[in-house]
Amino acid sequence: MSSQEKFCSGCASALEIREVEGRQRPACPNCGRVVYHDPKIAATCVVERQGKVLMIQRNNQVGYGLWSMPGGYVDRGEVVEEAAAREVEEETGLQVEVQRLVGLFSELGHPVVVVAFAARETGGRLAAGPEAQDIGFFPLDGLPEMAFPRDNLILEKWKAMRQPG
Ligand SMILES: [Zn+2]
Repeated sequence: MSSQEKFCSGCASALEIREVEGRQRPACPNCGRVVYHDPKIAATCVVERQGKVLMIQRNNQVGYGLWSMPGGYVDRGEVVEEAAAREVEEETGLQVEVQRLVGLFSELGHPVVVVAFAARETGGRLAAGPEAQDIGFFPLDGLPEMAFPRDNLILEKWKAMRQPG
């Protein structure tokens, strides 16, 4: 629980959890201020090279050692497409141009909304960044062990909407 959830940002009273608009939320018994938790946005890219897609072996606590598409959280105020390209470059060394939206992926009760783009390589050189143990291109029928089932959904949708050539 962050201090934002313990004390009221308006009057510094201790917050209590109560039902507001159908959900349990931190609320101030003194001035009535309610803490609403916003979703977080993460952006990811499907980058294709000769029919294979770019994957990273994760060096993060979440999904450590397993594989995912490159991506990460969008900063507040950041253009989402630019965040997606930034994450690809940070994690893989490749510069990419976002081409089109594959979809928005959210789950009931899950704080993170994933925005998935198809992107094409424009430059850079393949080299694992600090957030990746290894990187590589994999065929869809030979993917490594994936960290997030969501990534498989993204790849299915990407494959279905992919233009030949
Ligand atoms: Zn208050």
